[in-house]
Amino acid sequence: MNSSLSPAELRRYDRHLSLPGVGLAGQQRLKSARVLIVGAGGLGSPSALYLAAAGVGTLGIVDHDLVDASNLQRQLLHGTRDVGRAKLESARDRLHDVNPHVVVELHDTWLTSQNALEIMRQYDIVLDGTDNFATRYLINDACVLLGKPNVHGAIFRFDGQASVFATDTGPCYRCLYPEPPPPGMVPNCAEGGVLGVLPGLIGTIQAVEAIKLIVGLGESLAGRLLLVDTLSMQFRTVQLERDPDCPACGTRTITALIDYDEFCGTPAPGAVLADDGREIAPTELAARLARGDHLEVIDVREPHETATSSIPGARFIPLGTLGEAIGSLDRTRDIVLICRSGKRSADAARQLLAAGFTRVESVSGGMLRWSEETGVPSAARTNTSYTVDNR
Ligand SMILES: [Zn+2]
Repeated sequence: MNSSLSPAELRRYDRHLSLPGVGLAGQQRLKSARVLIVGAGGLGSPSALYLAAAGVGTLGIVDHDLVDASNLQRQLLHGTRDVGRAKLESARDRLHDVNPHVVVELHDTWLTSQNALEIMRQYDIVLDGTDNFATRYLINDACVLLGKPNVHGAIFRFDGQASVFATDTGPCYRCLYPEPPPPGMVPNCAEGGVLGVLPGLIGTIQAVEAIKLIVGLGESLAGRLLLVDTLSMQFRTVQLERDPDCPACGTRTITALIDYDEFCGTPAPGAVLADDGREIAPTELAARLARGDHLEVIDVREPHETATSSIPGARFIPLGTLGEAIGSLDRTRDIVLICRSGKRSADAARQLLAAGFTRVESVSGGMLRWSEETGVPSAARTNTSYTVDNR
């Protein structure tokens, strides 16, 4: 891209042009830069907004989700009127409004082992705004293989962390975490909750690190992990070393991307069970319910999610309590699992299949697709007692 700045851009970036260390040369570097943001969610929102405002010439965004009302508490790229739209579209519109000089490239897909290298190689820097371990390891390994810095951020409830991985000499995510946590041990934001402003803080730190890398400013977080505890409002940094035995950046035994769902023991976002016939479309479920089929619908979302809408007659067993509730399930009935997007229900289906259940299906696209496609009014939950009461 031509890095020369128009009069309108010179006016817009005036406070950068007068800033020691940035100036005209730094602003031109920003304009030439290409940054990929994986995930237009809590972390991706502030980072994309600030990188666009700062004049990063090209922003790529990878996402395949729709805006849900429950996103608005923290995902400031999207507004109330965007609910139900593709996150990519609302992100593009918002970013163009922030800065029309920025080129926004949309990648309407989940990042997978099949497409990651091809997408990521088009960019200088990758900013990790994902919420799951499988994609985090995927981004890390692809960054190491491609030699691109991985600007990392992660959040949980009131705590966050940030670093820069996979630089020429610094450690990578695997040096810090050689193994993923056991599946189900760390709840995601939907299950565990998150303070809405926290991704704003961490995503903004990621944007600062990306800008520092582009302009060549200051001291990067490479080799350090920043830990943020918002409740005590303490910021700590710990030193990180590259692990010579790290299979990604040390011994380099990882020479190609692997199956990260298998590595993490979790289904990827949007993963389908269709291969073994375990998925059911919302319209098909609605038809089976309408003709009175003898099936049990189990909603594995959290109580706060099921409080406003659910499938009439559904039983509520949050995913984290499914193991305890297994004994109370009728193995002779068809069990249909549902969650918000189809991800947790797929995980629940795997758990039940592993426990020997055979008649198990997961609703593809979850309640989001159910509301869109069936036209069946969803019932507000009135029965607040849960199958497993001891939690
Ligand atoms: Zn490493």
